[in-house]
Amino acid sequence: MRLHEYQAKQVFSDAGIPTPASELAGTVDEAVAAAEEIGYPVAVKAQVHVGGRGKAGGIKLVDDAEEAEEAAEAILGMDLKGYTVDRVLVEEAVDFVNELYVGVTMDRGEGKPVAMVSTRGGVNIEEVAEEDPDAIAREHIDPAFGMHPYQARKAVYDAGVDREIARDVASILTTLYQLWDDRDGADAEINPLMVTSDDEVIAADAVFNVDEDALFRQPELQEMEEEGEFAESELDRKADEYGFDYVRLSGNVGIIGNGAGLVMTTLDLVDYYGGEPANFLDVGGGAKADRIANALDMVFSDENVDSVVFNIFGGITRGDEVAKGINQALEQFDEIPKPVVVRLAGTNAAEGMEILNEDLVTVEQTLESAVQRAVDYAEEVEA
Ligand code: GDP
Ligand code: MN
Repeated sequence: MRLHEYQAKQVFSDAGIPTPASELAGTVDEAVAAAEEIGYPVAVKAQVHVGGRGKAGGIKLVDDAEEAEEAAEAILGMDLKGYTVDRVLVEEAVDFVNELYVGVTMDRGEGKPVAMVSTRGGVNIEEVAEEDPDAIAREHIDPAFGMHPYQARKAVYDAGVDREIARDVASILTTLYQLWDDRDGADAEINPLMVTSDDEVIAADAVFNVDEDALFRQPELQEMEEEGEFAESELDRKADEYGFDYVRLSGNVGIIGNGAGLVMTTLDLVDYYGGEPANFLDVGGGAKADRIANALDMVFSDENVDSVVFNIFGGITRGDEVAKGINQALEQFDEIPKPVVVRLAGTNAAEGMEILNEDLVTVEQTLESAVQRAVDYAEEVEA
């Protein structure tokens, strides 16, 4: 999960890394008011989850209220690589003489975190990494010991950072590593780390990606995810709440299965029989009645869905258990909103098929016939 620039800057600033004064704005008026308060020149910066905003026209430097208004009008609502900009960060412009790069990430090849420093920061660091990898100094860290002060100094020295600012840059790198470690970072990056003519060092951009699997123990960052995500759909929200792996697709045949491979196979078969999958939904192992009910709730609340196919393979999850779940879930409806086809195989499949209430669902013996039936139902609805 990726924080927005304004959120990452908050985290960095709280940890003691210098950042420019800034304010978030959601409207042109708010942006101008923020600019007036901060004082010109200011940078107006699109807050979307993409890199390279500068080159794509998502960042503008302005010198007065009129320009601030123009910039905010141009950037708010613009499409930046597929994301609509709904907020800008208005930020004190930094008068810089140099742009550095500092970053921390996991080096999977080495199996260790790596801290990086370069004097060639700015918008082209990816090119630098490719064309001239030696221009980025790297120091691997033993996570059991953390970053030793000499390692930060060595990375800064190896990168050729000016002596006047070396101590500050090393200190920022140390803090960045500490944050990466404490806050379960995947990547942490400051690019550019700007250097001013009077040797101040200040983070003009901030990237912090959090390891999703550790989010549960980072409540503060989890909250930021919620406030930062405006575009998440109702269905995605439900999937998160229920703990399903769910991807919405463009078709009309709803698909529920247990196990990613089984669900993928079902998608392929729906396509093979001339239908179009509406979603990928993996209810996972141990699919008890309430999980089945939640899964049905999800596909039923997708208005594109015209029919539903269940593809369940009983392993640890027994077929009779799933059948009970499907019955219970469907009995709650006065009228079943969309036809449901079920295919059960594996442990207790025969018992399961026996239990299934055929007033509520269509039971099919094979996967092929189940998918074909669901595709037919969907076609009937469309016809
Ligand atoms: P990115 O393109 O999404 O990585 O956004 P950045 O925040 O890194 O900004 C890209 C570039 O815009 C920087 O490398 C700077 O050259 C320029 N820029 C951003 N903020 C400022 C600022 O406050 N002052 C000045 N002069 N330039 C800035
Ligand atoms: Mn940047």
